[in-house]
Amino acid sequence: MATDTYRTAPTEEAVRAALATVNDPEINRPITDLGMVKSVEIAADGAVAVAVYLTVSGCPMRETITSRVTEAVQGVEGVTGVQVELDVMSDEQRRELAASLRGGQAEREVPFAQPSSLTRVYCVASGKGGVGKSSVTVNIAAAMAADGLKVGVVDADIYGHSVPRMLGTEGRRPTQVEDMIMPPSANGVKVISIGMFTPGNAPVVWRGPMLHRALQQFLADVYWGDLDVLLLDLPPGTGDIAISVAQLVPNAEILVVTTPQQAAAEVAERAGSIAVQTHQKIVGVVENMSGLPCPHCDEMVDVFGTGGGQRVADGLTQTTGAQVPLLGSIPIDVRLREGSDEGKPVVLTDPECPAGAALRAVAGKLGGRQRGLQGMSLGLTPRNKF
Ligand code: ADP
Repeated sequence: MATDTYRTAPTEEAVRAALATVNDPEINRPITDLGMVKSVEIAADGAVAVAVYLTVSGCPMRETITSRVTEAVQGVEGVTGVQVELDVMSDEQRRELAASLRGGQAEREVPFAQPSSLTRVYCVASGKGGVGKSSVTVNIAAAMAADGLKVGVVDADIYGHSVPRMLGTEGRRPTQVEDMIMPPSANGVKVISIGMFTPGNAPVVWRGPMLHRALQQFLADVYWGDLDVLLLDLPPGTGDIAISVAQLVPNAEILVVTTPQQAAAEVAERAGSIAVQTHQKIVGVVENMSGLPCPHCDEMVDVFGTGGGQRVADGLTQTTGAQVPLLGSIPIDVRLREGSDEGKPVVLTDPECPAGAALRAVAGKLGGRQRGLQGMSLGLTPRNKF
């Protein structure tokens, strides 16, 4: 086929402008800002060859980057073909990138603990395992992201790290650029999990100091970017991790998840009351598995009893001296469980079903609060006397 010889080849400026619209899938910033464009060559017939530096060899995102670059350059007027060649950054380039991502700061501090941080940090805690703490975390994260907030989740549940599966990042490992870790993301939520650093399904047998170090890395070395909300899925109970979080991010607020059952509520209250020792604020309680809508009639079947969430909220209000509200009650719903298994949160797949709607309402309450008000009086609730 004859080429159109009258066609004008595109300018390098136009091709670079198109490349500036391509974001690195993990860092979420234009590849032109990240020093990832190695070269641009334009032939007289309009064929463009772009060489792109990957941050690491074997980058899991190589195909995504190639197709994004191809698509963007193809759209430039006069381009007749695009060839993308991949190279890998040198150590020096990676160091420069890591330094620029850190805003030139050499010291690794937990950005969320800085007084200037505008990110709201919520630790999701429960007394017992299996009450739906991770399901609640994942769904409120996905609902907030769907509402346009920038959201991250740290899966610090060392024994039951299930967040990647529930959010759809299962099997994806973070990419490391020097000492910065790029979290995978799915459904608009960035995720880092302790399970991403252990081989296969091996249990984590770390003890206090190692856990503290891991958590510090998750908070300081992971490139979260500018988040509106960070959720931490804590292990059940009142363990070392809860204390570490309080030390690393003192302004983190606690969200307690319980079932309506008396026994579960008692343990949940105990877990929540750790806030008294750590001087943290409890943002509220979510009751999960609050009844099963009968498939044959409109009646609710109270599988786990009733009232546990309110009891925990009242108990914690008394213990802490600050008003702890019940933020919502989530019914048992097969769609929620199925969504968790498939990595598709129910708030996205079936937002109007009772469980989806209840979870979205909780997300709305937590996400709708103004940024950066942690530790300040909202004028609505008495301040924690500690
Ligand atoms: P935890 O994090 O407290 O250990 P999970 O979130 O892993 O609990 O939930 C335990 C199990 O219960 C999962 O299989 C989850 O899909 C299911 N589950 C949680 N909440 C509900 C609900 N409201 N309806 C149906 N299944 C639920």
